[in-house]
Amino acid sequence: MALSLENTERAFAHKSDLDLSKAYRLFQAFSYPFLVNYGPIIANWTMKIGFPIKSIIKKTIFNQFCGGETIEESNRFAKRLYNNRIGAILDYSVEGEGTDKNFIKTYEELKLVIEEAANKPEYPFAVFKSTGIGSFAVLAAKSANQDLTPGQEIQYEHLVGRIHSLCKHAHENKVKLLIDAEETWIQYAIDEIVYSNANEFNREEIIVYNTIQLYRKGRIEEIEKQINLAREYGYKIGFKLVRGAYMEKESLRAQEMNYPNPIQDSKEDTDRDYNLALELCFKNRDIVAIMAGTHNEESSLLLARLIEDHNITKSDERFWFAQLYGMSDHISFNLAYEGFNVAKYLPYGPIKEVLPYLSRRAQENSSVKGQSSRELSLISKEMKRRKALKKFV
Ligand SMILES: Cc1cc2nc3c(=O)[nH]c(=O)nc-3n(C[C@H](O)[C@H](O)[C@H](O)COP(=O)(O)OP(=O)(O)OC[C@H]3O[C@@H](n4cnc5c(N)ncnc54)[C@H](O)[C@@H]3O)c2cc1C
Repeated sequence: MALSLENTERAFAHKSDLDLSKAYRLFQAFSYPFLVNYGPIIANWTMKIGFPIKSIIKKTIFNQFCGGETIEESNRFAKRLYNNRIGAILDYSVEGEGTDKNFIKTYEELKLVIEEAANKPEYPFAVFKSTGIGSFAVLAAKSANQDLTPGQEIQYEHLVGRIHSLCKHAHENKVKLLIDAEETWIQYAIDEIVYSNANEFNREEIIVYNTIQLYRKGRIEEIEKQINLAREYGYKIGFKLVRGAYMEKESLRAQEMNYPNPIQDSKEDTDRDYNLALELCFKNRDIVAIMAGTHNEESSLLLARLIEDHNITKSDERFWFAQLYGMSDHISFNLAYEGFNVAKYLPYGPIKEVLPYLSRRAQENSSVKGQSSRELSLISKEMKRRKALKKFV
C-alpha cells in the first residue's frame, strides 16, 4: 500500500511559519529537565501571587496542546481541524480536588460537551474520565472487593448514577462516548460500570466505548471475554485501544505492595498485544467498533491496511484513529487526507486547572527517546521544505 505518514506538507498545512517555529521552540524546551520538572510548579505559584504569567502560558504550551479555556473558545480550533476532515473530541481536562462539589461541576460540564457534539460532525465523540466525576478511593475499594462503608456506598451509587446518566444523554443525542482507562486498581470497578452501560445503550448503534490498555498483561483474553459476553447478551461493543499512560506508577505500586506487576515485561510485548488487539477487534467487526488511540505509526498503519485490504470504505464509522491535539499531526493529517476517520482529543479548561495536563504532556515529550525528537524532526523537515520552496520561488 502506498499510504505514508511522512508527508509534512500535509501534516502542517494548517500551521503558519510562525506557528511552526513556535512549536519547534516549545518541543526544544522540553529537553531541559529543569523546565519540565519545575515549570508547572513555578507557573502555579506565580499565578497564585498574581504575576501575569497566564498570557505567556496561553501563548506557548497551552496553545500547542489545548483548544481554549471554554467550549466556545475551542470551537474555532475544532472548525480548523474539521476543514482538514479531522474531528475534535472536547476533553474537559480540569483536574481539581476530588470533592463532591467538583464532581458535580465536571458532570454538568460533560453534559454540555455531549450537547455541543450533538449534530455537529466536527465533534464525532465525547469523552470523560470516571475519576473526574467520582471518588478514586471508592473505586479502589470497590475494585478490591472491599465492603464499602455506608458513606462510600452512597458515593458509589452517585458515581454509577452519573455515568449512567451521561451514557443515556449520549444515547439520546446520538453522540459516541469514550470512557478513559485509568489505574488498574480502580479499573475493575470502572469496567463493570461501563460494560453494564454498553449492554443497555449499544443495542442498535455503538455509543459507549470502553478503553483497553495493552501495556497490561492478559488484555487479549479480556477483549475476547467481553466480545463473547456481548454476543451472548446481544449488544455491541466499542473499544478504544491504547497502550497505557500509568506505567511507572503501576510498576512502583506493584513493587511496594508486593504483587505481580500488571505491566508487560517489555515494550515489544505491549506493541505485540496492541497490534493483536487491533486484529482481534477487526475480526469481530460485526459487533465491534475500534478507536485506535495511538501515536504509534506502525499500529496506525496496521489498522489502515486492514481496512484497505478488506475493501472497506475508509470512512466506515466502525473505525477511528485518534491522537492528542498538538501531537503526531503527521499521523492525523495524512490519514485524514487519505479518507480515514480521524479525531483529536482537544483538551480545554481554565489555564490554572489544566496545568497538570500540560505538565504530563511536557514530561511525555521530554525523554530523548520519546515523542519530542520525532516531533522536532518532523517540524524541522517541514521548515526546511518551506525555506527551500521560498528560495526557489
Ligand atoms: C487519543 C488517545 C487517547 C488516550 N486515552 C488513554 C486512556 O484512556 N488511558 C490511558 O491510560 N492512556 C490513554 N492514552 C495514552 C496512551 O495510553 C499512551 O500513553 C500514549 O499514547 C503513548 O503510546 P502510543 O501508542 O502512542 O505509542 P508508543 O510511543 O509506541 O508507546 C509508548 C507506550 O508504550 C508503553 N511502554 C513503553 N515502554 C514500555 C515497557 N518497557 N514495557 C511495557 N510497555 C511499555 C507505554 O504504555 C507507553 O506509553 C491515550 C492516547 C491517545 C492518543
